[in-house]
Amino acid sequence: CGITARVGRGDAVGELLSGLRNLEYRGYDSAGVATVTPNGLDVIKRSGEIDELCEAVEATAVRGATGIGHTRWSTHGPPTDANAHPHTDCLGQVAVVHNGIIDNYTELRDELSTHEFTSETDTEVVPHLIEELLSAGYSPEEAFRRAVDRISGSYAIAAVFEGSDAVYGTRSGSPLVLGRSDDCCYLASDVPAFLEYTDEVVYLQDGDVVVMDPDGYEITDTDGVAVDREVETVDWDP
Ligand code: GLU
Repeated sequence: CGITARVGRGDAVGELLSGLRNLEYRGYDSAGVATVTPNGLDVIKRSGEIDELCEAVEATAVRGATGIGHTRWSTHGPPTDANAHPHTDCLGQVAVVHNGIIDNYTELRDELSTHEFTSETDTEVVPHLIEELLSAGYSPEEAFRRAVDRISGSYAIAAVFEGSDAVYGTRSGSPLVLGRSDDCCYLASDVPAFLEYTDEVVYLQDGDVVVMDPDGYEITDTDGVAVDREVETVDWDP
């Protein structure tokens, strides 16, 4: 139901968690974060309150300058730790958060029957599709694009990859907003998630694919052609 993502320098986790708290008003039954660390992706997720996620995060000292976060409002599969987002592939190469519903997930799950699924969500087909594409030799960006091309439904999606300081995002029918400050970029379902860090926002449009890294961001359409989206300064009373 709520997405946060952050790239830049310094620690991402505090900003991801405060972003999730700022999206609590949207409602949720589970929460989770994934960060990129030198030792791979760190994923922590819990059903229940964000407080429970925070305790788990503190206990394991999750770190990383790049990460994604999620609050889930279950549509496919009950609110359990396993069904909470982020979801990963079998090899831990990619972590994905998703808002919305993937309509053709049953078909995709059948196609991916050799993969071991660990949740009952529609979302989990995405990391497994990406894994297939990475195995076929595609770059993270191309794998992300091609996986998104395969899904239908309503979605906002953000993903991080092992060994990469970039965040990939896209939307179709669910909101996704980019925020940029001098040294960080953010993605979220709604502006309040990152308003304490920046008021410069770009409202992504359906079909946009954004790649953000510590040097900035680029937005392209589904064919990979760069698109120019206006940067707006929001005047939002906290
Ligand atoms: N359909 C997904 C799930 O049930 C995402 C729900 C959401 O938007 O939070 O896990």
